[in-house]
Amino acid sequence: MRFVDTLEKLSNAYGVVGREAEVRKTLRTMMKPYVDKMSIDKLGDLIGVKYASKKKAPKVMLAAHMDEIGLIVKNITKDGFLQFAKLGGIDDRVLIAQRVLVHTEKGRRPGIVGSKPPHIMKEDERKKTIEADSLFIDVGVSNREEARETGVKVGDVVSFDIRFDKITPDLVIGKAFDDRVGCSLLLEVLKQLEDFDCTTYFVGTVQEEVGLRGACVSAFQICPDVAIALDVTVAGDVPGVKEVQAPIKMKKGPAIGIMDSGLITHPKVLSMLVDAAEKADIPYQLETGMSGSTDAARIALTREGVPCGVVSVPTRYIHSPSSMLSLGDVEKAAKLATLAVREAARVF
Ligand SMILES: [Zn+2]
Repeated sequence: MRFVDTLEKLSNAYGVVGREAEVRKTLRTMMKPYVDKMSIDKLGDLIGVKYASKKKAPKVMLAAHMDEIGLIVKNITKDGFLQFAKLGGIDDRVLIAQRVLVHTEKGRRPGIVGSKPPHIMKEDERKKTIEADSLFIDVGVSNREEARETGVKVGDVVSFDIRFDKITPDLVIGKAFDDRVGCSLLLEVLKQLEDFDCTTYFVGTVQEEVGLRGACVSAFQICPDVAIALDVTVAGDVPGVKEVQAPIKMKKGPAIGIMDSGLITHPKVLSMLVDAAEKADIPYQLETGMSGSTDAARIALTREGVPCGVVSVPTRYIHSPSSMLSLGDVEKAAKLATLAVREAARVF
């Protein structure tokens, strides 16, 4: 399967936080031909292993999260409107008028995030952000009973209904690139690595968006010598963003994380990544001072501690329903991660 097709398939799969089964199944099928062993832990993390040719080899963990941000039904009003809570960090301003899918026991039910019409708002009301609490999902039913008959109930998760599109030869837009692009990178590295000097774990984690939870338990089980999270980062090359706030740009190569709010990249991992990029002439961007974090933050605190780093794909509009990224950046990120794993046998 071509890389862009893999990304499309993973992006179109649904995996709202805590309900990652469909993504896991997709990723599992894709990974299967390339790994020696695969397992799923009790929280739902997918762990593929490629054993090293030598007995005494370091263990490398590559982690990408399978979950995506979404909503969860909190209350059904007597008129059949669904009130919701957010799963993961979503800006309230991007929710209004979105097309969504409610994942019910009877299948997916389309709906719209509705709000009070602006026409009847007072002047000052119109200027304010409408908070998620006053929004609702309209699935076209008239009352609570009708909602129940269609299968909708409290606790159902809701995803954004977004189509994947290739808008230029290099750029794609779609849903949940955070972090399906990381999942597709796991596959690319698996395909590109020929010799395994390290025993390498390819992990699709769950519940990253609500506190890096899957990474916590999978790392405990694997107990790696070094780990790299493959994720996305904010591309700030859009109007209204100052360079100092978000200097990472789309189409300028993968970002190598130095520090975020949860991790200071281990110096050995940082130089391993930078050296790999330099040696292979892969353009890269160094990133520091971002708020938010990745699975690497949690993995680093496992047992006696794990040296960790982050390779991320600059992505525009993350944590909103649709985002945009460059396939060229993804290709370079794959190459960088592959070389880093190869290098890890020497460094650790
Ligand atoms: Zn992410």
